Amino acid sequence: MSGFLLILSAPSGGGKTTIARALLERRADLGFSISATTRPARGGERDGVDYHFLSTEDFLERVTAGDFLESAEYGGHLYGTLESEVDRVLAEGRHVVLDIEVQGADQIRQRRDDVVSIFILPPSAEVLLSRLKRRGADDREALSRRLIQADTELQQAATYDYVVVNDDLDEAVAAVERIIESEGRRSPRRADLTETIDTLRAALAIKASELES
Ligand code: ADP
Ligand code: 5GP
Repeated sequence: MSGFLLILSAPSGGGKTTIARALLERRADLGFSISATTRPARGGERDGVDYHFLSTEDFLERVTAGDFLESAEYGGHLYGTLESEVDRVLAEGRHVVLDIEVQGADQIRQRRDDVVSIFILPPSAEVLLSRLKRRGADDREALSRRLIQADTELQQAATYDYVVVNDDLDEAVAAVERIIESEGRRSPRRADLTETIDTLRAALAIKASELES
């Protein structure tokens, strides 16, 4: 199998983390690209599992060293995809799941062609707001900032390869799985395709000569 980079983006609260987790639990052909960030870890987050938590100085040093496939500022913190993470997952023979925001997605699409990008949409403004409130991480002001940010992000949705509405969670996960399946079947990604076609051609040639004799 030839792996690809599966980018999931969404406005905050759109459900990309939930969908990514469900996909990674269900499918052995996926691995997660652990991003680097300068934001402090939230309760329960572990360094090297959820993120590589770096100081701003270390982050910028690694930018200069060319370690990042992309990097962007979001909500006052730096985030970036380490090329080494993407290579690690691809070397395991898996597709790489990237949970990243729109600027980073754009940078990766410009640099690589082995990319499938999916924008996750909330079913409505009401549902997005109620999910953000239920998550309980934000006060009124932070919620308002997230909605303003969401508007900027939504303007990029149409640049993605696919858009999936996250209304019912199981249906949204199933829709992403269908995309993974069909993208995996694209002929340039099928390492086994030449062999399959060669075998079929050889068998047909035998049948043809049997019919002639
Ligand atoms: P994001 O990573 O895009 O910011 P999350 O995955 O954290 O969003 O989802 C935001 C909140 O909405 C979480 O509390 C999550 O459990 C909930 N959620 C996500 N998808 C659904 C869904 N389809 N139905 C109901 N709740 C959802
Ligand atoms: P959070 O701080 O809530 O985990 O993430 C904030 C935003 O940063 C989300 O939109 C998430 O997708 C994005 N993000 C996480 N990792 C990366 C990354 O490596 N690069 C970019 N560009 N965005 C990221």
